[in-house]
Amino acid sequence: MLDLNYTPTTGFVYLLHLERPLCPTHPAQHYIGYADDLAARIQKHTAGNGSRFMQVAKQRQIGFQVARVWRGDRTFERSLKRRKSANRLCPICAGAVQMGLQELSPAQIADALIPF
Ligand SMILES: [Zn+2]
Repeated sequence: MLDLNYTPTTGFVYLLHLERPLCPTHPAQHYIGYADDLAARIQKHTAGNGSRFMQVAKQRQIGFQVARVWRGDRTFERSLKRRKSANRLCPICAGAVQMGLQELSPAQIADALIPF
């Protein structure tokens, strides 16, 4: 059960939306991850590092967007991954649902992506 009153932490849980599925037989089009330093992790994903999934996306020249970001820890990340319905969490795809108070606004996401 997802805890919508999750205590804020210093980390970020993020949802990436790929511009197209990884492949026809592996139609996943989203990636959920956790990072202490969001800007550094997104830069790694852009470079094709940070996860095997995003490495394959880079190799196949599939671009991505940071669709949503929450304040949270690895427990929250796992709870999102267990839902196995990332497309329903994604505002770029249809039918995004509200996910509690710890979500960052688009402006806050932009700020968090600025490397220091
Ligand atoms: Zn999406």
